[in-house]
Amino acid sequence: MSQTIDAFVAQLADVRTVGADGSPQDLYGLVDRLTAHFATTVGSVACRDGCITCCSSELPAVSSLEWRVIYRHLLTLPAETREGVRQMAELLRPLQPAMAHHRSLKLAQSDQLGRTPALQCPFLLNGGCSIYAARPLICRGYGYTGATLGEQTGFFGCSLASAHISAVAPKGLDLPLFDPYQAKLQALNDAEGPSTWAYLAQWLWAHLDGDGFVAEAIWAPDFAVASAPRAVPAPRRLPPNPRLRRGR
Ligand code: SF4
Repeated sequence: MSQTIDAFVAQLADVRTVGADGSPQDLYGLVDRLTAHFATTVGSVACRDGCITCCSSELPAVSSLEWRVIYRHLLTLPAETREGVRQMAELLRPLQPAMAHHRSLKLAQSDQLGRTPALQCPFLLNGGCSIYAARPLICRGYGYTGATLGEQTGFFGCSLASAHISAVAPKGLDLPLFDPYQAKLQALNDAEGPSTWAYLAQWLWAHLDGDGFVAEAIWAPDFAVASAPRAVPAPRRLPPNPRLRRGR
């Protein structure tokens, strides 16, 4: 397995794009192949179909480059989907002080005032990811890889996925590391412009224009202005959208 893992890492040298065409020369294409290979080769280690535990407990932070991919995709979605995302972003406004100070936000925790605001990614609608084809790298590697945090390397995923892999995976299984793919993303981002990382809700706030969205992705928004508190509109109930694909 480690030879296969090394072979995937070696392919990173040929990666030139993010979210462009799903080919092995595209970072998302390569990581999707890596996780698919891993899931089928070592047995049924994939997350349970339709599970949205990670989407409803943590809020991903993404770079400018990934945000551009997501935003272009968002603008192609049906109006009711965009409206659902906009409403979800507004429901996350109370978390703004916490987002300004933390890089890894557990939405299941109450904020410093003891409130528990909307507990999900703003792109999670009707039990599925509304931007599945353009979901960020972290959502593609989560649950299938290991990652380094400080001096330690551990499983990169939720406790459900960790327990599942521990139960079904062969003893001594090597997990592919997420680190080199994340480093490639950073390098591709830096090649285009200054690196800005922010939570998905912060990106959305920076792209709201009244009741809609601005026409193009902004590479480095002023998040302090975009995140300023404003009145949170009452959510409307949205009709189910059968075109949405299931989450991870
Ligand atoms: S898969 Fe989609 S809904 Fe889930 S955290 Fe990622 S972007 Fe959000």
